[in-house]
Amino acid sequence: MTINVTALDGGYCLHLERMVIKDGRLKTVKFPSLFFYIYHPQQGHILFDTGYSERFHDATKNFPEKIYALLTPVEVKEEDLAINKLGGLGIKPEEINYIFISHFHADHIAALKDFDKAKFIVSKQAWLDIKDRSRFGSLVRGVLPSLIPENFEDRLLFYEEMGKEVEEADNILKGFKAWDLFKDGSMLAVPIPGHTCGHSGLLVDTGIKKHFLVGDACWMSRSIRDFKLPALPAYLIMDSKQSYYESLSKLNALYKGIEDIEMLPSHCGEVFAKKVKNKSVDQNNMNSL
Ligand SMILES: [Zn+2]
Repeated sequence: MTINVTALDGGYCLHLERMVIKDGRLKTVKFPSLFFYIYHPQQGHILFDTGYSERFHDATKNFPEKIYALLTPVEVKEEDLAINKLGGLGIKPEEINYIFISHFHADHIAALKDFDKAKFIVSKQAWLDIKDRSRFGSLVRGVLPSLIPENFEDRLLFYEEMGKEVEEADNILKGFKAWDLFKDGSMLAVPIPGHTCGHSGLLVDTGIKKHFLVGDACWMSRSIRDFKLPALPAYLIMDSKQSYYESLSKLNALYKGIEDIEMLPSHCGEVFAKKVKNKSVDQNNMNSL
């Protein structure tokens, strides 16, 4: 069975590099907002997150949501939209069967409303953490409820229920729990807590290589390789500093222990340079490789 994983860029935001990695530059740089298209021979077309969409600007027009846009200035062009990126691959939005949501920050879910037929796969904890929050309560979690489709709950699948929990003895992801989504070993949903409550990644085994889509477990691949933590202010927006530390430490151990595993954080300039074809975001001033 051959599974394909394609990295796509869906706009970018600007951040001080030092915020996301301790030895980063004291310079405002671009962080691409990556999402991934996966083709599974039996399950069809699948997305891991969606990148930004113009809805982010609509959702942050007024206060208090405007604070979000001021803290992370976002650039998204028509060509960056997930529907247009997929169009370039010959895939129509209604052909997407599943969208795996790493977490509910806007840069990961802003285009959910473009995919009417997709089922949403998410961790139960992530959804329970945000579903009944007030407008302000959502904002402090970095969530913009207007980006979530009205019929979201009708289309929702919790991976802890749809998948099969991988037995500890069979689990190559030592230290992490994992759920085998389609019970064929091809795609494992993996809780990677810390960044947000219920934040999750996806291990995709293409048959040749293992791609570990780690979402915002860190912002740069170098953080995993060298076990580099973010600067202190970054902890203010984290769900749990302790869980973040533990997750990054386990990812670092996996990276060292499994040769054919490729770690793919969603905002890494290195992943962008290496994996994204047909780039629409300018490489200039990208976070350092
Ligand atoms: Zn995030």
